[in-house]
Amino acid sequence: MSDVTLESITKAYGDDTAVDDLDLTIRDGEILGIVGPSGCGKTTTLRTIAGFETPTAGRVLFDGRDVTHVPPERRNVGLVFQSYALFDTMTVRENVAFGLEMRDVPAGERRRRVDELLELLDIAEFADRRPRTLSGGQQQRVGLARALAIEPHVLLLDEPMTGLDAKLKTRLRTEIGALLADLEVTALYVTHDQEEAMAMCDRIAVLNDGHLEQLGTPADVYRRPDNAFVANFVGTSNVLEGTITDGRLDLGFTELDGSFDASGDVRVAVRPENVAIGGPLEATVRQATYLGERTELVAALPDGTTVTLRANGDASYTRGDSIPVAIDADRIRVVE
Ligand code: ATP
Repeated sequence: MSDVTLESITKAYGDDTAVDDLDLTIRDGEILGIVGPSGCGKTTTLRTIAGFETPTAGRVLFDGRDVTHVPPERRNVGLVFQSYALFDTMTVRENVAFGLEMRDVPAGERRRRVDELLELLDIAEFADRRPRTLSGGQQQRVGLARALAIEPHVLLLDEPMTGLDAKLKTRLRTEIGALLADLEVTALYVTHDQEEAMAMCDRIAVLNDGHLEQLGTPADVYRRPDNAFVANFVGTSNVLEGTITDGRLDLGFTELDGSFDASGDVRVAVRPENVAIGGPLEATVRQATYLGERTELVAALPDGTTVTLRANGDASYTRGDSIPVAIDADRIRVVE
């Protein structure tokens, strides 16, 4: 396993630029997530690394070696897709062995590697069954075993959890995340589910309209979003408008002290968990959604601006309730 670098990659389809001057490195052994709205260029980026797309401009490097014009079959990449693309005429074992056979790996070595992966992914008991007789989660593990069997330079995963139920997704993301970390696989993980990316990836690239908006650890992009787009896309954010003078933020209905670097008219992002119940501001509940362990509230601040906040699931709220709230000035992030 090793690193992958995209150097000023642009991919245009006629007038439509799917990826625009993208610089990105997947470091040796890391899982890099790509998130962003539909059509932002996630799959195009992945396909460019796999070699299914030739960039309009820029270079793709594997361990510093230029592979921009190397065909997919000679790049040694492992692919895992949403539709598992398993061969139904073959057993699970034959599916996992497929790439090794294509590479003329001797039978003994092939058997040893396949057994190891079937064991590792906990699918050994299904070795002689056909993929279609397995559940979605089991098939996904077969897909992963098949991709890992060839010991790929980089493992590319494109929305691999789509179609699985919520509970299984949560379980698989923990298991697969831990497995890839243990194996020190270099991987690119494309998903539109930012929570999945936060749970599984070492770093996350947030794409928007073919551009890289921010690259950082899950905590970086969540706690320190570079701009309003990232603040809104990764998790929930309340974006408020105000004015900063001498480090003090005036939101119109309240002034907050903080060590704000910026000055003048700004937009700031506040996470729901940084709006506390109990405090100097009076807000009016507009919507209350009970979610078991918590209740998600949308409330109007004194100037009519609505914010999302979270309350303990034990308390009950109804539309029109007046609640005291406080905004944690230390956790406000200036995004524009
Ligand atoms: P999604 O989350 O919906 O899968 P994505 O972020 O993976 O989206 P891409 O599939 O990379 O987005 O597409 C990026 C842009 O490039 C889109 O505007 C899409 O219409 C365009 N595009 C992708 N493939 C082609 C193609 N073969 N021909 C023309 N345009 C394309």
